[in-house]
Formats: sequence, C-alpha cells, structure tokens
Amino acid sequence: MAHAIERPEQYVCLNCQVIYAASVTGEEEKHHFHPPSGCAVCGDPEFVQIESYIPRALNRGESE
Ligand SMILES: [Zn+2]
Repeated sequence: MAHAIERPEQYVCLNCQVIYAASVTGEEEKHHFHPPSGCAVCGDPEFVQIESYIPRALNRGESE
C-alpha cells in the first residue's frame, strides 16, 4: 500500500489573500503546521487554512 503523501498546509491572509505555505515544527512523525505570525505584505496576523477559504470571486454571478 502506498503511503499517503501529506501536503503541507497552506494559509491565506484574510486581508490581502496572499497564500503562505505553513511553517512546520516538531519531529518527523509529530510535526504540525502553523501559519506565519504576520503577513509579510500587509502585516495582518489573521490567516485561514486554504481548505476553509472560499474565494468570493468563484461565487460571483450566482444571483444575477
Ligand atoms: Zn496580507
């Protein structure tokens, strides 16, 4: 059986939508991901995981 390859988490800045690859800490089997401490572009500290982020541009036109 093939071992599932774990993708690194990605985080999206809620303010300017820049995507960051998560930083990885811990040992190989106990590592975890975390977002940057602050956006390098706008300085905003709020990030959301990319799986939870729904770009509004993809939903446009639904109500027209
Ligand atoms: Zn930003």
